[in-house]
Amino acid sequence: MKIILDTDQCEANGVCVGIAPDVFELDDDDYLHIHGDEVADGDLPAVTEAVAQCPKAALRLS
Ligand code: SF4
Repeated sequence: MKIILDTDQCEANGVCVGIAPDVFELDDDDYLHIHGDEVADGDLPAVTEAVAQCPKAALRLS
């Protein structure tokens, strides 16, 4: 599965980074980066939680 980010919606509040820090990273300019093209099986539970908890609904799995 892949993570789709709606950059127009993301407000760089770091909620997803706190839940899945191995996958999501905010850079010094507050741009969100997603590591890897495909979500590793071991990361899927945390990524699913991050998608659910994003207060801007800026993330989805496809
Ligand atoms: S939780 Fe949502 S709004 Fe916050 S940094 Fe992650 S994608 Fe952006």
